[in-house]
Amino acid sequence: MTNWDHYYATRAARMQASEIRELLKLLDQPDIISFAGGIPDPELFPTEAIAKASNAILGNKGRATTALQYAVSEGYLPLREWLANYMAALGVKCTAENILITNGSQQGLDFLGKLFISPNDTILVAWPTYLGALQAFNAYEPHYDILPGPGSNRTPESYRAGGKPKPKFGYVMPEFQNPTGTSMTKEERIALLDAAEAIDLPLIEDAAYEHLRYDGERAPPIMALAAERAGGIDHAKVMYLGTFSKSIVPALRIGWIVAPKDVIKKLVLINQASNLHVSPLNQMILHEVAATLLETHTKKIRDIYKVRRDAMLKSLAAHMPANVSWTKPEGGMFIWMTLPNTIDGAELLRRAINDVRVAFVPGSAFFADRSGRNTIRLSFSLNDPAVIDEGIKRLASLLRGT
Ligand code: PMP
Repeated sequence: MTNWDHYYATRAARMQASEIRELLKLLDQPDIISFAGGIPDPELFPTEAIAKASNAILGNKGRATTALQYAVSEGYLPLREWLANYMAALGVKCTAENILITNGSQQGLDFLGKLFISPNDTILVAWPTYLGALQAFNAYEPHYDILPGPGSNRTPESYRAGGKPKPKFGYVMPEFQNPTGTSMTKEERIALLDAAEAIDLPLIEDAAYEHLRYDGERAPPIMALAAERAGGIDHAKVMYLGTFSKSIVPALRIGWIVAPKDVIKKLVLINQASNLHVSPLNQMILHEVAATLLETHTKKIRDIYKVRRDAMLKSLAAHMPANVSWTKPEGGMFIWMTLPNTIDGAELLRRAINDVRVAFVPGSAFFADRSGRNTIRLSFSLNDPAVIDEGIKRLASLLRGT
C-alpha cells in the first residue's frame, strides 16, 4: 500500500477523522437514545411544499430551463433579492450585490477561510466553537487564539503582546452558539465590536440557528450594529453567514454570505473556481418555499423544539447530580454540560454507549486546542420529551456511579 502522506500538501496533515466520528457511527443501533447529532427533525420537513415548488418549476418550460442550465456564480437573483429584504428585516440594510449564495453555510466558512487565511495566520474563535468551522479553517493552516467576549479574559492589548502578528479575523456565533447554546446580549455584541475595532479585526458572524429562538429578546445581528457605526455594510468589517438548513431543510444545501461588495466580488471568483455555482433548481425551490412559508413553518418547528428544550432542562434539573452544571439556552438545538474535572467526556461516551445506551458529543472536539475534556454537548432536537427524560435519567445514573 502506498503511503500517500508524503505526496499530500502540508494542509492535509490537519485533516484528521476524529475518534468521536468513529464512535458516533454506532448510533445507527436502534436501542440507543442519541443526544449527539445537531440535526433537524426530519418529521418537520415541509416535504409537500418542496414537492409542489419543484413540480411548478419543472412544469414550466422557461423556469425549467433556468433551473437545469449552468448559471451565474453569484446565485439566483430573485433569491438574493428576497434575502436582501429578509436581511433588512433583521436590521441589515443591503442589496443583492452584497449577497453570495453558497452550498450551505459550511461552504461559506470554507470560502472565507480561503479568502482570509494564509498559513500561520492567527484567527480568533470562541473556546469552545463550532467543530465544522475549525475543520473548514484548518485546511488553510491557521493558529487559533481566543476571541474576546463572554468566558474569555482577552483584551485588545493581549493580542499585541510580544509583537505577535495581528489576528486575521474573529469567528462568532452570537445566537445559540454551537455547541453551548448560549447567546450574546446586545451589550456583549457591542463590547465585541469595540474590541474588534481596537485591533482592526474583521468578524465573521455565523447565524445558523437564528430562526430557533424559543424565548427571550433577540439582540440585533453584529452586522447590523457594525453597519450602523460604519455608515452601511460596505464600510463595516463584518461578514454574515446564513442558512436554510435549520429553518427549512439541510439537503438542498442553500446558505448565503452577506458582506461588503468588494468581499463578495472576491468570493464570487472563489465560487467560480470551486463550484461554478450552487444548483439553480435548489435555489429556485428554496426561494419559492421560503417566500411562501418561512414564517409559518419556523413558528411550527419552534413550538416543537421549545417543548423538547424545556423537557431536557426539566429532566436535567430532576435527575442530575449536584456536581454537574449546564447552560439554559433561549433557542437552538444544544445544551452544554460541564462535568467534574475528573471525568473525561470521550471516556464517558464510551461507557454511556456500552452501559446505558445513550450518546452525546464529547466537548473537547469543539476546542481548537482539544481542551475542555470535562464537557459534553447534548442535543434536544430529535427526541420526544419522554425519550429525552429516559435518556437523561440513564446518563444521570451513570454519572452518579462514577
Ligand atoms: N454553522 C453552524 C454553527 C452549524 O452548526 C452548522 C451545521 N451544523 C453550519 C454552520 C453548517 O450548516 P449548513 O452548511 O447546513 O448551512
